[in-house]
Amino acid sequence: MTLFVNLTLCPFDAKDLNREYSGGSFLVSCSHCGAEWEVHNNLVLRVTDPNWELAEEVAVIVAERIGEQLENNTVRA
Ligand SMILES: [Zn+2]
Repeated sequence: MTLFVNLTLCPFDAKDLNREYSGGSFLVSCSHCGAEWEVHNNLVLRVTDPNWELAEEVAVIVAERIGEQLENNTVRA
C-alpha cells in the first residue's frame, strides 16, 4: 500500500510525520504516537513502536476512511 511506503502520514493515526536527514537516511517520526522509522531509499524500517493506546484512539477512524476509499474506488471502476 502506498500509504505505508510514502510515509507522509502516520499509518497508525494519520498525523503528519516529521522528517530528519541523518547520515544517508531519513529518520521519520510521528509526534502524536511516537512511532519512528528509518528510510533508506525504498527500504523502510520501523525503529520505534507507536504508543498503541494513542494510536488506537484514531485507528478505527483511519480504518473507516480506508474502507470508504476502497468502496469509492470500486464504485468508480
Ligand atoms: Zn502516529
